This record gives sequence, C-alpha cells and structure tokens, in this order.
Amino acid sequence: MRINRRKTRAVRVGGVVVGGGAPVSVQSMTIPHPRDRRGTIDQIHALERAGCELVRVAVPDQEAVEALPAIKAGVGIPLIADVHFDHRLALKAAEVVDCVRINPGNIGPWWKMAEVIQAARDWGIPLRVGVNGGSLERPLLERYGYPTAEALAESALNAVHAIEDTGFTDMKVSLKASDVHMAVDAYWLFAHQSDYPLHIGITEAGTAMTGAVKSAIGLGWLLSQGIGDTLRVSLAADPVEEVKVGFEILKSLELRHRGVNVIACPTCGRVEIDVVRLANEVEQRLGHITAPLNVSVLGCVVNGIGEGKEADIGIAGGQGMGILFKHGKLVRKVPSEELVDVLVDEVEAMALERRDGHAPDADSSDAAAAASGADLALVDAAASTAGHDLPMMPSR
Ligand code: SF4
Repeated sequence: MRINRRKTRAVRVGGVVVGGGAPVSVQSMTIPHPRDRRGTIDQIHALERAGCELVRVAVPDQEAVEALPAIKAGVGIPLIADVHFDHRLALKAAEVVDCVRINPGNIGPWWKMAEVIQAARDWGIPLRVGVNGGSLERPLLERYGYPTAEALAESALNAVHAIEDTGFTDMKVSLKASDVHMAVDAYWLFAHQSDYPLHIGITEAGTAMTGAVKSAIGLGWLLSQGIGDTLRVSLAADPVEEVKVGFEILKSLELRHRGVNVIACPTCGRVEIDVVRLANEVEQRLGHITAPLNVSVLGCVVNGIGEGKEADIGIAGGQGMGILFKHGKLVRKVPSEELVDVLVDEVEAMALERRDGHAPDADSSDAAAAASGADLALVDAAASTAGHDLPMMPSR
C-alpha cells in the first residue's frame, strides 16, 4: 500500500515542522500539574527518550502559567500550552511556549480570541485550533441537534475562516471526538475543504488496550488515506505508552521507521521457548535503539527461519539450543538460556554499524526535515509531489 499524503501547509512548532510533507510527528501530554516543575520535566524527559517530538502541558491556572519558563528551560522538545476558558492564560503562555492550543468554542467572546491571535502573532508562534464534540457553539448544536461529524467540521472551518479574516494563518487544527466514526468523519470532511495541517487523535480513547485499539483503527484509517500531520494517542495510562502506540501505528503503515520492531510468532504446538516472555524482554531491553530494525522472536526452528525471513535479525527456539539468524540465514547455534543476551548484543552492534556506516535510518532521514528546522519551501516542494486529491468519502 502506498500512502499519498494530503497536501497541507507547513507550520513550525519550535524546531519541528508539522504539515507540508514533513514526517507525521508524535506528541503526548504531561500528567502532573505544572506547579510540579520537577515532575513535569522528568515526565517530558521520559517522553523524549521514547521518541516524543512535541509535548503539551495543561495550563489551567495562573500557577501553571508561572511554571512554564522553568519547564521550557528544562526540556529539549517543543512545548505546547493547552488553554481552555481563560484567554489571559493563553496571552501569558504565548510569551514562553512554542505553540498554544486553544478551543475557540470555550474561550468566550471573539475579542478574547482576537487577543490570543495577536499574542501568537507578536511572539511568532502558531496556534493549534482544537474543536471538540463537547464544546460546540450553540447555533451549531441547535441546527444539528447534537454533536455530529458535520457540526464538528463546520465548527472547525468557521474558526479557521474567522482567524484567517484577521490575516493570521499560522495554525494547525484538531477535531476531537471520542467516537471513532465521528472523529474520522469530521477529520475527513475538514480535510476535504481545507489545507491546514491536522493534529489527529481520538479523544479520551480509553485504557491502554482499548484506547490503543480505537486509536489504531481511527488514526490508522485516516493516515492510510493520507490525512494527519501530527498525532496524539490519548490513553488513560503512562503517556510514554501513548508515544509507543503512536509510533507503532506509524510503523505499521510504514510512515515512520523508528526503533526496533519486534516480530513475535503467536506460538503453536511446536513451540520450544517462552516466546511471550522473551519477546517482551527483547522489546524492553531494546527500547533505547532508534535505528529501524526488524527483530524476530520465534518459537521453533522448524519454520522459524522461514517465518523470520523479513527480519534483519532474530532468534528461534530449539530443545536446549536455539539459533540466531540474520536476514533469513543461520548465523550460529546458541544455548537457549543465552538467546536473549546474544540477540540484544547483536542488535546493539547492528544499530551501531548502521549509525557509523550512515546506513539509511528512516527515522533520522524522514524526521530530518522536521527536526533540523529545514527550509519550509523545500518541505512544501516535497509535499507537492507527494500530495493528491482526496477520494470520495466511503458511505456506511
Ligand atoms: S515459529 Fe514455530 S512455534 Fe512459532 S508459530 Fe511458527 S511453527 Fe509455531
């Protein structure tokens, strides 16, 4: 499957370009109240280590906005302030952060929004305009009766047009709903009518497992259609898990290639090793590797090598002795109890070789344009060759 990404404008959030053909970036949100500066910074560091490229911090009150300079100084990735209701917090946050997320539906009269736009302009930062099924404008609710995808898309388009009327265009847009159908349809409708980059996500998706499945279905479908420039997987779990799931979605669609992709067989009656335990251990011990490598953990040698042919490297279990293979070829036999240690050493060496030999590292190459702050015109040029017109929305 070849994914042709939708043509969008490019927006720069700190050093990361969103849209305009830049790689789909992965973001997350911190959990502690920002007054806990140390806790917030530590969590952002953990997110950075997991590959998070943009991070959002809730700014619910004055105490939170006062903590932003210390948090910004303590972290390496662009910081986004999430503001609801009180536009004065957005005005203060704009002085510090790389982007402000604002929901025009809950910020009050338009003059408040106009002040936020002016602040973003003054400080040279973009806005994320986030509409939400739970805070649609009254006229839209009266017309549609209840939140619908059409109402959500119309709300976002109204907001975008009103902001454009002030001459401000430095924005990305999100249309959040926790219902997968509604979110997907709303994004689809908006994408069909506007070229602003989209932050995609299924809001309040659920616990680690249900949320990951819902997000994979919703975001996976949108991304497969070329829609989505940055994403957040919302989970009721450690936000590091959000980043991992985000990358897994992008890796599955071959939109990003970062880190080790562990392929584990489902096991069957031929299994000779504890695949579940070993695969989890391998994934955990290789979490620090950023080079894109496919690593197999297979239950037996009978079909093992054949089944692991697509992998760069892997192990397959045997009675007392397993095997280590590379690109489908046997390298050597290894005592079962040493299999994981040997595999981890070999993968680390392989990752180092790739780095030193400058072998293509899809993550660093595809992220380069975004992370290094590449020229937006170049990114735009790349997009213009990759973009396409949206096909018809499938009916259900
Ligand atoms: S690799 Fe072996 S144990 Fe795993 S599913 Fe295939 S045949 Fe079964």
